[in-house]
Order: sequence, then structure tokens, then C-alpha cells
Amino acid sequence: MKNYDVAIVGAGIAGCAAAILFAKKGLTVALVEKKQNHDYYKILCTHTIQSSAIPTMLRVGLGDFIETAGGKYTHHELWTSYGWIKRSERSSNDISTKGYNISRALLDPELKRLALRESNVDYITGDIEDFHLDLDKTCIIDIKTPKKTILKLKSKILVGADGSRSKTAKIGNVNVVSKPNYRFTYYAYFKHESFKNIHESKMWFLNPNIAYAFPNENDIMLLCCGIHKSQLLEFKKNIKNNFINFFKDLDDSPYIEEMEQVTDFIGTLRMENIYRENYPERLALIGDATLTSDPASGVGIAWAFQSAEMLVEHTADSILFEYNVDDALANYYKAHKKYFKPHHDIISKDSLAKPFGDAANFIYSTAVNNSDLADSFFDFCARRIGVNDFFSTLESLK
Ligand SMILES: Cc1cc2nc3c(=O)[nH]c(=O)nc-3n(C[C@H](O)[C@H](O)[C@H](O)COP(=O)(O)OP(=O)(O)OC[C@H]3O[C@@H](n4cnc5c(N)ncnc54)[C@H](O)[C@@H]3O)c2cc1C
Repeated sequence: MKNYDVAIVGAGIAGCAAAILFAKKGLTVALVEKKQNHDYYKILCTHTIQSSAIPTMLRVGLGDFIETAGGKYTHHELWTSYGWIKRSERSSNDISTKGYNISRALLDPELKRLALRESNVDYITGDIEDFHLDLDKTCIIDIKTPKKTILKLKSKILVGADGSRSKTAKIGNVNVVSKPNYRFTYYAYFKHESFKNIHESKMWFLNPNIAYAFPNENDIMLLCCGIHKSQLLEFKKNIKNNFINFFKDLDDSPYIEEMEQVTDFIGTLRMENIYRENYPERLALIGDATLTSDPASGVGIAWAFQSAEMLVEHTADSILFEYNVDDALANYYKAHKKYFKPHHDIISKDSLAKPFGDAANFIYSTAVNNSDLADSFFDFCARRIGVNDFFSTLESLK
């Protein structure tokens, strides 16, 4: 039975980022992935990446990729019935406030390639079947291989990076709190020569419906609508017409009739907000496996990178030198809850797709003409500042 410092289940964003960062600190890593195709990527994603993730993306080695892959450094602009909200010129010129749009078809295989390049990462194709702790708290993990044999691994901690339906969390009997999402989404990719020069990502909050236009590499634009579930049956009667009419009516709409649609429509109906807590010993969850927030908030990729780094920073030395591993894991979960949970709770409320409340009306109506609030609002949406900081800015304006 091969022995590792860390076994990670899931070679998506969070799993690969954690594998790379643990390996760079000298730990040995088993990276287990059930999909057999190395070029596998997550299709269900609109892949706008918040600026809070860029430092971690650079640290895992994606700097050259960001430079050359052709994705778009981007700012988000928001329309509500009060008008457009945009960053101030000062903030617009600050590259550190920019997020990054790049399709998962490019990002995921590149990240996997970087993980495989680390000499102390062993990549194992298989599906987690079971795990338990032996008497000295070593994790014993059963992996079902594509040939249906069971491969046993040993490690000091087990990391579940296997996404929102985490089987690892299920095997560990981790408690799941799930909150509903009353919107469904449809999106598709479109092509038009003019998109090459577009860098801003547009969002429309139609209260309660939403729409996004995200420019990506080359001349590709991803258009997405999020619509209240009460309109689902009507929308499904003619998805293409309804989608086009929806976009045609938007303020400053992309020229949808002149674009070439280059993919089918991709629909998602199941997008609950999931939060997991009460973990068994020696199990760490990262990325969507810990917390899955409504995709409308566009935070999942950034948080997958950030939670992976947070785990490595809190635990790598303890695992390597075998001291206080349980305390290190507890500290990771404490830091995770402090940083992510307040954002997650606000996002979960928005998923109920209720009419704007007093706070939202104040923010949207004021930020149209107040650039400090606009900058602060977008820093909050990009998760560069926390809930408390943003609410102090609001208080100071009232
Ligand atoms: C419709 C939609 C739109 C979205 N748009 C955005 C967006 O614009 N911006 C954004 O930031 N986020 C977005 N997200 C969220 C984003 O896709 C996720 O948050 C992100 O992919 C999470 O990364 P992860 O590494 O935690 O999980 P995943 O990317 O899901 O990776 C999990 C990995 O684990 C593997 N795995 C699963 N089970 C097992 C098992 N039993 N054994 C071994 N391996 C296993 C999977 O094959 C996969 O490779 C969107 C999500 C949806 C649904």
C-alpha cells in the first residue's frame, strides 16, 4: 500500500491547485480523478473568474497561461432599472481589480498539466469507494480503478475536492445544509468579429431575472440568462426564441441577431446553495465540496483556488513534520468559515429571487452616481473585501 502525505480526491480546480501547492512545499500527493480523459473539463460553468483568485492562480504557475491563452482580463458592469454601475476611472486602471474570463476547455487541462508536472504528485485514475482511520490516525483509502479493482492508499490527511456532490463528504458523513435556488439558467456561446475588442463583462439584474454577457478568448462571447423557475415551462416551449427575445430587450444589448451561435444552449435547473460542516478527523474539504454558492454570483472558481491555498497554508507544515495536524485542520476550517460563509449566506438569500430589498435598492440607486460606492460594490462582488467592510462603506453613506 503506497503511503502519501496527502491524498486528494478530484482533479478539478481545487484539487489540482491544492496538489501543486502541497507539492511545492515538499509534500507527497496522490491526486485521484474518476474521469479517464486528461482533457476533461467542466462544461457546466460560465467561467468568469473573480480577481480575488488571481494571486493564487499566479502561485500555482498559471502566469504564462494567463498571458498567452487569450482570455480576457475583465471588469464587471451592472445594469439595474436605476442605470449602469461601473467602476471609477481610477479603479478601472488598476489591474489588480480585474478578474479573468477564460473557457474551462482551456483552463482545466492546463491546470492538470501543471499538477502532473510536479514530481511528487502521483496521478491516479479512479473513484473513491471508502476511507477510514486506523489507530494511529493514518487515512486508509479505497479507490476503485477503471478495471474495477480496489487500490488501497495511505495518507496523513484526505482532501475531498470532488465538487458539489462530493462522494468523499458523503462517505465521511459530513453534514450538508442546502438552500434552494429559484432561478434556472440557459447559456450558449456566440461569435462575432467585434467581440475581439470587448473586455467588459456585462450583467443585468432585472429583478428577479438576470443576464450576463462575458467576452472570452478569440471572438467568443458567452451569453447567459437566469430566470425565475415560475417561467420555466413557458421558456422551454421555445428556448432559442425566448433566449433571443430576452437578450434583445436588454439595455445596451449585444447584437444577438448578428452573432453566430457556436454551441447548443446549455441549461441548468439544479443549483442549490450547499454548505458542509462537522467533519470527521483527518478529512479536509475544499472548493465546491465544502461550499457551493449560486453560480449567478460567479465565485466558485475563485473560491476553489482560494480554499485550496488556504488549506495548504494552514496545514502543510504540520503534515510534513507531523505535529498538531488536527489543530491545523481545525484552524483551516475556522478561517474558511470566517472568510467564505458570510458571502455564501448573502448569495443564498439572493437565490430566492425575491424583489430587491431596501439595501439593494439603496446600493443600486446610489452607486450609479457615486463612484466610491460603485468601486466598493464591485470589490465586494469580486470578494476582494468582506461583508463587514462593505457594510461599513454603506453605513458611512447613509
Ligand atoms: C451553470 C454554472 C455556471 C457557473 N459559472 C461560474 C462562473 O462564471 N464563475 C465561477 O467562478 N464559477 C462558476 N460556476 C461554479 C464553478 O463551476 C465551480 O465552483 C468550480 O468548478 C468548483 O471547482 P471544484 O474544483 O471545487 O469542483 P469541480 O470543478 O466540480 O471538480 C471536481 C472534480 O472531482 C472529480 N470527481 C468527482 N467525484 C469524484 C470521485 N468520486 N472520485 C474521484 N474524482 C471525482 C470530477 O470529475 C472533477 O474533476 C458555475 C457553476 C455552474 C453549475
